[in-house]
Amino acid sequence: MRIENGWKLLENLYFERLGGTSEELEAAKRIQQALKNDLGLDSTIEAFDVIRSNIKKVSFEVLEPYQKTYHATAYMNCVDVDNLELDLHYFEVDHPVSRKMVNGKCALISGYLGLKMYKALCESNAKAFITYNGDADFGPYDVDDRELRALLKECGDLPGVHISTQDAMELVEKQASKIRITVEQEVYTCQSHNVICDIKGESEDWIVCTAHYDSVPNSKGAYDNATGSVCLYGMAENLKDKSLKHNVRFVWCGSEERGLLGSKAYVQMHKDELENVKLCVNIDMIGTIMGSRIAVSTADMSLVHFIDYYGKMVGFPINSSQGVYSSDSTPFADAGVPAMSFARWTNSDTGRFHCRYDVMEHLSKRMLKEDIEFISQFTETMANAYVIPVVREMPQNMKDELDKYLGRTLLKK
Ligand SMILES: [Zn+2]
Repeated sequence: MRIENGWKLLENLYFERLGGTSEELEAAKRIQQALKNDLGLDSTIEAFDVIRSNIKKVSFEVLEPYQKTYHATAYMNCVDVDNLELDLHYFEVDHPVSRKMVNGKCALISGYLGLKMYKALCESNAKAFITYNGDADFGPYDVDDRELRALLKECGDLPGVHISTQDAMELVEKQASKIRITVEQEVYTCQSHNVICDIKGESEDWIVCTAHYDSVPNSKGAYDNATGSVCLYGMAENLKDKSLKHNVRFVWCGSEERGLLGSKAYVQMHKDELENVKLCVNIDMIGTIMGSRIAVSTADMSLVHFIDYYGKMVGFPINSSQGVYSSDSTPFADAGVPAMSFARWTNSDTGRFHCRYDVMEHLSKRMLKEDIEFISQFTETMANAYVIPVVREMPQNMKDELDKYLGRTLLKK
């Protein structure tokens, strides 16, 4: 591939691209333009419904033992409340003692609000929640917009706000005991989009390659996942003039950051075609200066071994493992398609994501090209296999992990 063109696409996608917004659609169109203008490839856009909301009003105040109004954002899609006054409890861990203490109160929790924690709060009869993020020392860090996903809402309807780490520390240290919350929002349905481009082969079989092109709030999403978007583009360039035995489809997925919504919609809308999809190759976060390569397969161990052998054969150090990866490969795996994700993983000292520090300065043209060439070669090998050898059967341990990841294990209880 011509990395200069790929880098140009990366720069063209370097803006906030939230799932379901006009900015996300603009990014989709820029991908289409690059495919058409640079590579002469046609593509289509498929729309699917998502919800968004206008937060009209949000306030969070401490009333006792001191009075202070804090900067807060509301959880998109949480229930509205008007001047709700509650006692505050720092729910530092899900523990029988904490569960008793939080009864009837507002819970301040640490870390990301996952299904497990939200379910614990609902079961403990908490009446509202507060989350925080940022770094105690390192800043500035944004109080970003959060969302209460549909899966969590199945456990109950709590109002929630999000504040900075420094403010959360102040609440606990000054023993804030009584708070007041207001959230008013207008939830509406809008559209997010997947971009689809095909390279035809001779057989009936397909390999679907995916990468999300949306970003989180306050992030231009260079690493996560403009890099993966450029990877699909580079792969399309490498494969377009080759004669392939099997078909390759590229899908740039929208709204991944909001709960894998684009790939879930794709799997739903293309249910009847999945039988012929023999493998899903997903790319999420590559091309950093520092880091190391991984491949995570939600598939039979033979695929895990093959990637390990393949890396050794072509001289590419990559750690291959079996597991469920939190990205667009997962809805495919859940529909029974063997699926895998490639990434170049870096630690937070050399590349952050899901925040304003996900910037191009952490990326390397050379590493990005190396990643793309390897993933492209691997995919071409599969696309030119006499028969695509990937075992179709999803192993039981992966089915169990999918149940866990997708919340079914918890919601069943
Ligand atoms: Zn991502």
